[in-house]
Amino acid sequence: MESTIDNQNTENKIVGKGPLCPKCKVELAHRVKRGFLFKRILSWLPVKRYYCYKCKRKHYVWG
Ligand SMILES: [Zn+2]
Repeated sequence: MESTIDNQNTENKIVGKGPLCPKCKVELAHRVKRGFLFKRILSWLPVKRYYCYKCKRKHYVWG
């Protein structure tokens, strides 16, 4: 699915394997460990943490 990218309010369907950075739209290939508190309190959530090499930030990604 690589058609027009205009006013999409819904989440983009990712073509690659990993999720995309919400900021720079590059693939978040680098997984990082979740924080201690996060693990303890929200470990039941299907959330993964990724590091974006482009904006050098860590993002929590649902799913
Ligand atoms: Zn980024």
